[in-house]
Amino acid sequence: MVTNLFSRQPSRVIIIDPTGNLKIQCYTNQDTNFNDRFEGSDGTMKAGRILATFQKRAEKPLPTDNVSVIDLKQDKVDLFDLLFRAIHSVPMPDALHQGTIEQVWDVLDTCHIYGFRLNKLSPWFASWFISNGGCTKFGHSQLAKLLYPCQEFDHPQAFATITQRLVYEVPGHISDKMPKRFENTHHQFPPRILGGLNGARSSLKVTIRQEIDIIKDFLGSSCYCRKEGLFAYLEALCNTGAWPLEDVMHGKDALSLNRVLDCLLRFKYNCPQDAYGCDLCSRNFLRDTIEPGVKDAQAEFGGLCLDCINNSQASNERGGRSAVARASGKSGKWNAGCRIDHGEPTWWFSYISSKQKPQRQAQEPEDLDGSEGLNPSSKRKRASEDGEDYLDLDIEDEHANKRTRKD
Ligand SMILES: [Zn+2]
Ligand SMILES: [Zn+2]
Repeated sequence: MVTNLFSRQPSRVIIIDPTGNLKIQCYTNQDTNFNDRFEGSDGTMKAGRILATFQKRAEKPLPTDNVSVIDLKQDKVDLFDLLFRAIHSVPMPDALHQGTIEQVWDVLDTCHIYGFRLNKLSPWFASWFISNGGCTKFGHSQLAKLLYPCQEFDHPQAFATITQRLVYEVPGHISDKMPKRFENTHHQFPPRILGGLNGARSSLKVTIRQEIDIIKDFLGSSCYCRKEGLFAYLEALCNTGAWPLEDVMHGKDALSLNRVLDCLLRFKYNCPQDAYGCDLCSRNFLRDTIEPGVKDAQAEFGGLCLDCINNSQASNERGGRSAVARASGKSGKWNAGCRIDHGEPTWWFSYISSKQKPQRQAQEPEDLDGSEGLNPSSKRKRASEDGEDYLDLDIEDEHANKRTRKD
């Protein structure tokens, strides 16, 4: 059973660090009566009821000088318990590793609002994934909601698996999602990365077509049965329900890539009677053409690499696209310095998902005044809100050309 992490709690004392000299009083004005009063950080009596008092070290972004008590009007005690434990690298109860995707977004949102460093939450987010059964447990809609947290909490393995699954399993165009409560907020998954994902899907379509579309073999053959052979081949392809690819992979009733690949394996070629014995027209196309094409497409894309996205971004700022390509391909190792294993397609689509100019520095969190309580810095504008730049190239054709040149 999933614990409701952020439900209201009775008043309690939570020791994050027993040597810490900062107390944070979480209080509420909800469901209080006239007698509910507490001594505020400035020594005066305030209306409200204390839900929890945290004892911890003073550490940025909280005030660090001459402040011993902070009043925090906040009823999500468990959320702050989680945040403070993560920031202080203190073990946390199992329940804090669970929770829903929406609660993950709550943690992310609170980090943005108060200026907590997201990398401090990375170990917690990785544990959350394990506690929730890993990437395979989630459906497409949930995966689309996890894209942004994976990027923000820097989880390269989950990010690669999720992006790989979305490319192979989503019918039609791939987009991100967010819990309803966070729509119309500053949170935005970069459109350039969605461009990379949809580019990868298109590129896989090219892979399938290049391997399976052998019309030119028939047209270039000198055998007398080539016309019947070509007709029988195309008929068998159409009968799989996955051909022509342009028709079945786009539009309202689009099939996912995995579905297309499954359908293609139903390929059943009826060799024309006059073609028996012909090297081309009586070939075992399922074994020699379709199955290898399907296998190559299945193995081609390993998802996007967060490190390549970030490294490419840094390299772009230094030397431009050609410098990145030279640096990445020189050793024949496309995952140099990355935390996940991957090949060229992952590098390429991660590279085109990278930002093409220096990202504006995020605004420093506002100093928080202990006497006034812990105030969120209002409407912190994130760099991703700025206009996105896109590479001026055709994603699908560019990668197809690279592959052709390589072949
Ligand atoms: Zn023939
Ligand atoms: Zn990489």
